[in-house]
Amino acid sequence: MYKTIIHFFPDIFDRMREIEDYRKSSDYDIAEIIMSCIAMFLFKEGSRNAYNNDRNEGKFKKNYEKIFKAKLPHADTTDKVMRILAEEELEQLKTSLIKNLLRKKVFYRYRIFGKYLNIAIDATGVTTFTEKHCDGCLHKTSKSGKTTYFHNVLEAKLVCGNGFSLSILTEWIENPSGDYEKQDCEIKAFKRLAARLKKMYPRLPICITGDGLYPVKPVFDICRKNDWRFILTFKDGNLPSVWKEVATLLGMTTDNEYTGYPIITKGERITGRYKWINDIHYPPHCLNWIECLETKQNIETGKSGTNRFVHVTDFSINKRNAVEISNNGRLRWKIENEGFNTQKNGGFKLEHKYSRVNFLAMKNYYQCLQIAHMIVQLLVLAESFKNNLTDKMTLLHIWKCIIGFMIFGEIDSNLLSDQLSCRVQYRY
Ligand SMILES: [Zn+2]
Repeated sequence: MYKTIIHFFPDIFDRMREIEDYRKSSDYDIAEIIMSCIAMFLFKEGSRNAYNNDRNEGKFKKNYEKIFKAKLPHADTTDKVMRILAEEELEQLKTSLIKNLLRKKVFYRYRIFGKYLNIAIDATGVTTFTEKHCDGCLHKTSKSGKTTYFHNVLEAKLVCGNGFSLSILTEWIENPSGDYEKQDCEIKAFKRLAARLKKMYPRLPICITGDGLYPVKPVFDICRKNDWRFILTFKDGNLPSVWKEVATLLGMTTDNEYTGYPIITKGERITGRYKWINDIHYPPHCLNWIECLETKQNIETGKSGTNRFVHVTDFSINKRNAVEISNNGRLRWKIENEGFNTQKNGGFKLEHKYSRVNFLAMKNYYQCLQIAHMIVQLLVLAESFKNNLTDKMTLLHIWKCIIGFMIFGEIDSNLLSDQLSCRVQYRY
């Protein structure tokens, strides 16, 4: 894990030291504080208390300090910094790490048409409270009159076919302080996120993917203005005028179908049948519509079922690119699965209240989680690492072994430096 960090981010500690340190004096420098917070998520501790327990157990602290060449502070010491650190600091750190990966061309082979990165946009819930927690809290009142308070976050994640789901940018959906007429919402947050995304990555070729909330005029406008492409899930209820035109044109268009070669995987034969309509007028935009009917047939039993996926895009569709467009539209579910679900249920405990009282601290813990998850993905999705995984050798087991070794093992400094100096190939 440490080797992965220094392979991709050799200057990560220098970057952390550039972060504005508001404290007058401390036994730990700012890089030690932030690394320890990221490492809490790398070790999948699940809570500050669990982290402290491991820190006090056996050789954990000694081993940590040997590996990271940095002191390991108590989680309460780290928490004090998380409560005062400006929220853009860790976002900027995250951006600088992502830019390292872009420079190293890590995602090169996953670009759409050899050019565009698939940036999936989606929101998720982070925490809920029974009482108002801060001014920014979103709230809803049930029919029984009970009000709940919660925090949601909108993410732009880079998603790739191999399972990468990396946080590119985070926008909290939060109410302004003082009076407001309408609560903040996902589309409003998307407008803010889009403006920041363009500013941070002005020349990056981007294709936005999103669920059925996104095929709306303001999103098309933003994509056109920013020179971004889009492939958006198109549900039956979206844009009735477009559906009407699709229905009319399907009957009179020819040469707009393609059936892919069947793929056989895990005992199933999967066949995709594609249909599309180009140049649908939606002023001032021109939309292209694509449908994929995917049939999965069990090879042994012969049983089969069909799923339907529909997207709208600004890419003009033809026989050669239909599969790539449809597949990339469908990749957006990775933000839910490899992204949010792994962060909630894969040991990172996204929904745990790392800070019960302080919203700023909650945001800073959230960014540390995103950075840790990025490092873990760079490790576990590498071909050399995946070769170790079998039915019995699971990530859960490996992480148990890591913690066990940190507590009870003795790290040999010579072996450690040998390990760090030998070259490893990271292929994805
Ligand atoms: Zn709140």
